[in-house]
Amino acid sequence: MKIFDLAGKTAIVTGGNGGIGLAMARGLAEAGAQVVLMGRDGAKGAAAVGALEKDGLAAHFVEVDVTAEDRVAAAVEEAARIGGRIDILVNNAGIAIRKLPQDYTLEDWHKVLDTNLTSAFLMSQAVYPALCRAGGGKIINIASVLALLGAPFSVAYSASKGGLVQFTRALATAWAPDNIQVNAILPGWIETELTVQARAQVPGLNDNVLSRTPARRWGAPGDFAGPAVFLASSASDFVTGASLVVDGGFTVQG
Ligand code: NDP
Repeated sequence: MKIFDLAGKTAIVTGGNGGIGLAMARGLAEAGAQVVLMGRDGAKGAAAVGALEKDGLAAHFVEVDVTAEDRVAAAVEEAARIGGRIDILVNNAGIAIRKLPQDYTLEDWHKVLDTNLTSAFLMSQAVYPALCRAGGGKIINIASVLALLGAPFSVAYSASKGGLVQFTRALATAWAPDNIQVNAILPGWIETELTVQARAQVPGLNDNVLSRTPARRWGAPGDFAGPAVFLASSASDFVTGASLVVDGGFTVQG
């Protein structure tokens, strides 16, 4: 088998119907995997599948809210039925609610924590039997550089992503005997729907990102295809519990 080859593998990508998730799904599919995208918005899902299929890639969409405990297991079963097996799970679905801490409601807090952190727990638990049946597998959790840094509008987001990094480490130790590698990717500032609102809301954000990023640009969703393929393939079999920062140098700028 060639390095990075994912032929014969099935990958689930939550939030795979847009942004970074869709770009990672494309990368995994180009490496040979069959991809099952998950998300709430069926129209976006159909468009994403259409875009991948147009390029000859094998893709499917399963509509699910990944915070809904009673729906997640059925969605994973459907993915396993479609793919015949599950080898790779990318926990990518995420939201941000940008408010100062004093304005945050408990509902806001739960929404962000449920979407960004609890969903990764639910999805990982749901795929575990299928990964074991496949003889092992890969889980990739999409965290954020805000797991490492503080920002005034990001109390719940930073807490959820910091939690996701620690969840990654703990899960990696628990499931290493099952030949399951669990790693996190920490994106910096990436141009997607998620950051459109931040750019409008936070004065000077664009200049700040550009001046603090040694690469002198925002990230693009396509920047995540390579890291995802690496962490999904046998090329990373001895990498587990790791955090891969993909931020154009944002966090290392002095
Ligand atoms: P987008 O808003 O473009 O994509 C988010 C995706 O998550 C959507 O496809 C959305 O699908 C899905 N999603 C949200 N809530 C749910 C839910 N409850 N159930 C199922 N799917 C859900 O954002 P990005 O592509 O930028 O974000 C992808 C990941 O990357 C997120 O985890 C984000 O926190 C992280 N990230 C992004 C950064 C950036 O700068 N853009 C920086 C750091 C991290 P639907 O619309 O169908 O619900």
